[in-house]
Amino acid sequence: MIGPGFHHAEGPLRLEARVVVVGSGAGGAAAADRLAAAGVDVLVLEMGRQEAPATFTQREEQMFPRLFQDAGGRTTLDGAITVLQGKGVGGSTLHNLNLCKRVEPELLDRWASDRGLPELPQRLSAAYEAVEQDLSVGPVPEAMINRNNQLFRAGAQALGWANGPLKHNRVGCIGSGFCELGCAYNAKMNAARVLLPRAVAAGARVVTGVRVERVRHRFGRAVGVRGVTAQGHPVTVDARHVVLAASATGSPALLVASGLRDRWGQVGAHLHIHPGGTVGALFEQPVRGWQGIPQSWECTQLLHPTDPARRVWLLPVFGHPVATAALLPGFGEAHTRLLSRFEHLAAATAMLHDYSAGRVSADRRGRPLIRYQVDAADRAAMAQGLAAAAQILLAAGAEVAVIPYARPAELRTQDEARQAADRAVRRLDPPLAAVHPMGSLRMGADPRTSACDGLGRLHGARRIWVADGSLMPSSTGGPPQLTIYALGRLVGEALVQVA
Ligand SMILES: Cc1cc2nc3c(=O)[nH]c(=O)nc-3n(C[C@H](O)[C@H](O)[C@H](O)COP(=O)(O)OP(=O)(O)OC[C@H]3O[C@@H](n4cnc5c(N)ncnc54)[C@H](O)[C@@H]3O)c2cc1C
Ligand code: SF4
Repeated sequence: MIGPGFHHAEGPLRLEARVVVVGSGAGGAAAADRLAAAGVDVLVLEMGRQEAPATFTQREEQMFPRLFQDAGGRTTLDGAITVLQGKGVGGSTLHNLNLCKRVEPELLDRWASDRGLPELPQRLSAAYEAVEQDLSVGPVPEAMINRNNQLFRAGAQALGWANGPLKHNRVGCIGSGFCELGCAYNAKMNAARVLLPRAVAAGARVVTGVRVERVRHRFGRAVGVRGVTAQGHPVTVDARHVVLAASATGSPALLVASGLRDRWGQVGAHLHIHPGGTVGALFEQPVRGWQGIPQSWECTQLLHPTDPARRVWLLPVFGHPVATAALLPGFGEAHTRLLSRFEHLAAATAMLHDYSAGRVSADRRGRPLIRYQVDAADRAAMAQGLAAAAQILLAAGAEVAVIPYARPAELRTQDEARQAADRAVRRLDPPLAAVHPMGSLRMGADPRTSACDGLGRLHGARRIWVADGSLMPSSTGGPPQLTIYALGRLVGEALVQVA
């Protein structure tokens, strides 16, 4: 018998719960929190471990295997785009960069009209407020804007481009700069620090080390889940309701593997990932991008919530040494020469508010397979975005900005940077990474064009709910976690009414 609290699965398990939640990231934690607060018997299953922040070593080779799916090596099926996602109690909120931003009202209205969700904007607005309060969301203090971000801001302002500060969810941050490898100072007000302990205090059970492989169902109605421990022991859960919160890759993969009827082919479709490319730049003075909060400023000159002509979000980025070495162009001595100037390196990313859509399917064990290709319009936007990022860095005083194409574009003037917008972005050239999968079980009133309804229930099934980034009706063009927390909360509240 497993009581309220955090437990690690060591052997075979047979459990019962009123509601079983698969995944403990932003969405799953928010749903579990609401269910537990209402006194519902809720069991959370998480494939990763409960991590102790004090043991985070700030070393890439140690933290990537601990905190990231596939040790950080997950990619799209063609290998072209790295897709970074987290694991462990708190999911991707353990290693994310804590940016918090609501979806712009124009995009919310578009979701309401296009997807038949008239009440969503108002419901989300209330949920945003509650989540922002729970997670202590506020502006990044001016004193914590690091040199990399200051340079980015100066560049955007020198060009006269739209730019501004970002909000975050940190309390007690000392600016160590290692957010992406987990916070050793436990300063992130995330699912692991705030929501899951609160859910457990209210009676929730969280069992780690269980990878769910199937939703068990009869005649289209969920009856529980089946999974395995890390050592291969079977885990079976009987539950009245199943909430899938295994992320926008994990949840559709589980549904595909479970063999539920998907009449309109909506399960796993419409995947967006915000692919991003990076531009590096060398400055005469040290930048020391590893010191301080990694991201705190944005440039929205090329971004509009609903106008496809503006679909690039620009912001500073910082790579730890191994990631930077992998991205820097050149070989041998030339590569060593560049890396020896690591201290002088600033970087910016161009992230697509992508209209390209991929699809998630599954292997035999329910693990996600991600098909996604950047379409021609998004490739053109990426070239434009990379050129704009170079323009910002040069306007801030960089000696040279480098776009890491296979034949690197070394840009020294605004003219050269502007011309880089005409260069063709191809598959694998330059390398792209994605950190925001979403939309693969999107919400909408019409089962022919969406997988879930406005409350997060899977169309065409009974007692199966979704509470993660899969629900997004489109790409958001900004940091998605706040919306995922808010959607998870709304799903939890809706489920309380019937559980
Ligand atoms: C490097 C990086 C930086 C980021 N920075 C930001 C940022 O600054 N701001 C922002 O808004 N967003 C950021 N994000 C994205 C954000 O963290 C995610 O969008 C968000 O956490 C997704 O929430 P989710 O609930 O959909 O999934 P996740 O948070 O990924 O949680 C899913 C959980 O399900 C578990 N799981 C998966 N499959 C199974 C299974 N079969 N059985 C059991 N458990 C399973 C996983 O282990 C994981 O814990 C960042 C992401 C990355 C990778
Ligand atoms: S910058 Fe702040 S939140 Fe990020 S790892 Fe360091 S102390 Fe933690």
